[in-house]
Amino acid sequence: MRIGLIASLFGLALWATPLAAAPTCANPGSAIGVERVVEVDAKSGPLFGVLTKQQREPTFLRDKEVVLTFDDGPSPWVTTSILDTLERHCTKATFFAVGKMAVSYPDVARDIIARGHTLGGHTWSHPRQLPKMKPAKAHDQIERGFAALEAATAGGIAPFFRFTGLNDSAPLLDYLQKRGIATFTVDVVSDDSFIASPDELTRLTLQRVRQRSGGIMLFHDIKPATAKALPAILKGLKAEGFKVVHMRATKPVQADAEMTARYLEIVQKKLAKSHKVPRLMPFYGAISELRETEAAALAGENGLTVSRIAPAPRDRGAKRSVTVRSVKPNRVTQPPAKANRPAKSSSKPKSRKSGGDEPLPWKIDPGRNKPAAARRANDTNNGGQSSSWQYHGPRAGRTNSPLVR
Ligand SMILES: [Zn+2]
Repeated sequence: MRIGLIASLFGLALWATPLAAAPTCANPGSAIGVERVVEVDAKSGPLFGVLTKQQREPTFLRDKEVVLTFDDGPSPWVTTSILDTLERHCTKATFFAVGKMAVSYPDVARDIIARGHTLGGHTWSHPRQLPKMKPAKAHDQIERGFAALEAATAGGIAPFFRFTGLNDSAPLLDYLQKRGIATFTVDVVSDDSFIASPDELTRLTLQRVRQRSGGIMLFHDIKPATAKALPAILKGLKAEGFKVVHMRATKPVQADAEMTARYLEIVQKKLAKSHKVPRLMPFYGAISELRETEAAALAGENGLTVSRIAPAPRDRGAKRSVTVRSVKPNRVTQPPAKANRPAKSSSKPKSRKSGGDEPLPWKIDPGRNKPAAARRANDTNNGGQSSSWQYHGPRAGRTNSPLVR
């Protein structure tokens, strides 16, 4: 009992670190800042964002509110610049990081959390089509991704997931639901994967966010143009009256313990090489009640409203029976040998074999292979009401819900 309490308090200290470390804004007049905090209880595995054909929750954003999200990092060059920009503009974002990248650049992954941002998972190695993989392999990608992030940062990972290429499926959402992980697609696509000009990226991003009057915005923190355009985009958002909402989880993800321990070995070597002192404190506690107290305290301290949302679970009607991977060490099936490779292969893209289902993240951004005309058509739809991505009613075997719009 006492050990449990100590573990909980210790866990709280780790989980609460980014909150406590939030600095006061140096440019309160000109910076976009953070309007409010939305805490998502991921227990029921909710799905947010319009770019999906699956049942989703209604948006938690009000008119002219945005959530900033960055995928595919961390990368030392781009992510660090983005973190500096976000800090100058006193605002917060959510990063959906690739496990392999985080293990390769653990100091950058840690920096994301240390600066008070939210860090969620985006698979281990960014295969483009999780729904087309065998379920066990797809689940492994999800679990290894979270374990790698856990190891890279020594805790504090949100149970938030984004599908690669935004390619989701009912069975995989069912798996995530059973794992207590929330999934986020996108409302506003910046197309920073295709636009190299920061000016053009700024113009197009602001145009699209204007069309939708806000939403969950997608960027990539592996794209130099994104880092270059971000100051102008944040200034533009501020000038047009948009507000940033900071998304947070009510408690951290429960990563697979044995996988995490294996990745921790790689991370330690990485950090030792970069002369950083590793923090060897993976966390697996349950702290929801204590966390609520912390959230209330934060609201008082920074004057921010903290709204908590806890959507009800859904019957996703997955045809295959979903076996949820245990987070206990003795049921891990992944051989350790493979875990020793990621760091090297990640930093040497050309040495990779082709044809595998683990292409490098910077090669497979969503929609890259679509013809330009098709992309433009999609983009137009994203801004309107008739997007082909939007929900078209339940499929056979899936439960309809009044929450779906
Ligand atoms: Zn991605």
